[in-house]
Amino acid sequence: MKKLKICHLYPDVLNLYGDRGNVTAIKKRLEWRSIESEIINANIGDKTDLSDCDIFFIGGGQDFEQEVLLKDIAAGKGRAITDAIESGKVFLAICAGYQILGKYYKTHTGEVYNFIGALDLYTVGQKKRMIGNYAYECEIDGKKTEIVGFENHSGKTYLGEGVRPFGKILYGNGNNSQDKTEGARYKNVYATYAHGPVLPKNPAFTDELIRTALKNKYGDDVLEAIDDTFENNAHDYMVRRLLNK
Ligand code: GLN
Repeated sequence: MKKLKICHLYPDVLNLYGDRGNVTAIKKRLEWRSIESEIINANIGDKTDLSDCDIFFIGGGQDFEQEVLLKDIAAGKGRAITDAIESGKVFLAICAGYQILGKYYKTHTGEVYNFIGALDLYTVGQKKRMIGNYAYECEIDGKKTEIVGFENHSGKTYLGEGVRPFGKILYGNGNNSQDKTEGARYKNVYATYAHGPVLPKNPAFTDELIRTALKNKYGDDVLEAIDDTFENNAHDYMVRRLLNK
């Protein structure tokens, strides 16, 4: 039986906005297809071997919670995360989890947190937060796909040459409320500001992560179709509400 190992990074610290529901969504969509999963947590101070994990998840958190991570990142987690990204492992990084993969985050009060630097991007905090339901268009499995979610961030993220946006904003702020970009893609990293949690209402996104991890590990990425009536009803309701479709 196929099995995927999921690493939840910093679940004790980056645990706001219900983002841990994304791990549950991945686990359930594997279970519904009789694919085994194992979930391990990697918290501050853990010397967990991350090299055999297939999917990594990092959730959202407040500025001071991000500051709390700095020592652990410098003590080795940052290198292990960078190695996993460079080896093509699948990452889903949400908001603070997205920001810490970049070079630095300058808070709205002027503190500069030098983060992992695995992705060519940086973030600058603002006094005024960007909060609300939002939607963006991205490409998933070669098809244009609308993602619906909820954003709540002070940071404006700017992408460098080495990364591309994950999507184009259709409603809301996204990366920085200026360049209409949302999120970032680099190798098999999927970074987004979308809380919600984002995956339950966007089943195609969940399956993209699973398909990519299966292809990495087993060389094939054929996923059995499952009934997404409830998920699509929730997704389509938000698309109609936000985009007047
Ligand atoms: N603290 C970061 C910011 O305010 C990330 C917030 C979050 O994870 N929702 O931009």
